[in-house]
Amino acid sequence: MSKISAGTNSWISGVDNRLDTESTAQRVAKVAMPTEHGMFSMIGYRNLADGSEHLALVHGEPASRPSPLVRVHSECFTGDVLGSLRCDCGPQLDGALRAIVAEGAGVVVYLRQEGRGIGLLNKLRAYELQERGFDTVEANLALGFVEDGRDYRIGADMLRDLGISSIRLLSNNPEKLSALSSHGITVSERVPLVIQPVPENRRYMETKERKMGHLYRLGDSRGLVSLSFEDRKAS
Ligand SMILES: [Zn+2]
Repeated sequence: MSKISAGTNSWISGVDNRLDTESTAQRVAKVAMPTEHGMFSMIGYRNLADGSEHLALVHGEPASRPSPLVRVHSECFTGDVLGSLRCDCGPQLDGALRAIVAEGAGVVVYLRQEGRGIGLLNKLRAYELQERGFDTVEANLALGFVEDGRDYRIGADMLRDLGISSIRLLSNNPEKLSALSSHGITVSERVPLVIQPVPENRRYMETKERKMGHLYRLGDSRGLVSLSFEDRKAS
């Protein structure tokens, strides 16, 4: 048997000829990942459709729960790593990790689709346009991209690989909920991640709310995870 089957190297040719029912998630490595929030297992996946690399951070035994807490987080180098105040990604990631540990089990699916899928340098180009008055949606469109180019199929396939088909989703983004549902994951509840805006990202968050349907001011505070940039600095 050859080491690489047609199914696993199709991304090299740029042609994805896998069936919709076949998983795109290939589990590559699993390690222990102690963090300041608590102990996780970190599992590395390759997306067989395009060769991209993604991570699942698993705490406890989420597969043994009927509908575990899950965040599907898209990479934001500037927010997650540098603590950028241009967006609210860093506090959302920290809040999710913290909430999952507090709950005793859950998963952060970390998808490496920077800048809503346009890549790091294009995100910086979009920031340049934002400095000239464009908002985050207008900037992506002016650069010739769709307003949100993220794809959640790999995230759904990773969750299935982890034995999870129903989740409580930590998110403010209704689009993410419907995208995961369309890929066969049941979202039994959306748990808001409420981040208090700071002056530097207030316009960005208002644009996400107004143009992209993000829900920041939720009346339903059931299971609410609320935190601020001050919390992040303190943690
Ligand atoms: Zn961000």
